[in-house]
Amino acid sequence: MIQAAGLRKSYGDTVALDGVDLHVRQGEIFGVLGQSGAGKSTLLRCVNLLERPDRGTVAVAGQELTTLGERDLRAARQHIGMIHQHFALLSSRTVAGNVAFPLEVMGMGRAERSARVAELLELVGIADKADARPGQLSGGQKQRVGIARALAGNPKVLLADEATSALDPGTTSSILALLRRLNTELGLTILLITHEMNVVKSICDSVAIMSGGAILESGPIRQLLTTP
Ligand code: ADP
Ligand code: ADP
Repeated sequence: MIQAAGLRKSYGDTVALDGVDLHVRQGEIFGVLGQSGAGKSTLLRCVNLLERPDRGTVAVAGQELTTLGERDLRAARQHIGMIHQHFALLSSRTVAGNVAFPLEVMGMGRAERSARVAELLELVGIADKADARPGQLSGGQKQRVGIARALAGNPKVLLADEATSALDPGTTSSILALLRRLNTELGLTILLITHEMNVVKSICDSVAIMSGGAILESGPIRQLLTTP
């Protein structure tokens, strides 16, 4: 579902990605684990071309992205959802308005949009907060809104950038359970980056361990993280 090969990215003298290959299968939850500065965020942002790699190729759902122009890329990105550590919600919009936002950008009509927003809020368990503002929500509720917004375009792939790092342990568990349920029910492929081993252990099927801009090891979690 995600196929990246030979990714390199430098910022001045800093080599953020030093030749990264990544293969994420359809329907799996794939975790990239590493410490701060390892290159995880750069890798994730190269997968949807928010960051353009200096070298290498990225294909998502069989479509090569690195060769696309900006217009085709915007269209392709609608099929790649993304959630963020600090949620990135629009504070002036209601919960429903935040989830509606990508649908407005896509040009979806008012009636269809309203029905879709209601369905998404139901899916992530936050329908009762439709008219609230982000400032009135807990961290876990904000991330549910972020997830609903990311799913608006019915993506095949969800990219999660330290999605639970700003949450307490109990809330982290409930968000991870939601991601697992979406993976199972929608067949959603999830690529997540995290510095927390517990996140990887609790929901990932496969893991890549990253350090210094390179992947040190990767494979099925049972193979890599066996305990004696
Ligand atoms: P991680 O997500 O694992 O913490 P990053 O991908 O954010 O790692 O960063 C990898 C390296 O690239 C770090 O040394 C970081 O300082 C550097 N880096 C990342 N983004 C930028 C940027 N926009 N400008 C300059 N350096 C950057
Ligand atoms: P905002 O003022 O935050 O922009 P609006 O009330 O204008 O929010 O709504 C933005 C979008 O969200 C509209 O397209 C509408 O279809 C949808 N929407 C608003 N309230 C609801 C709701 N309670 N349930 C479902 N969709 C809603």
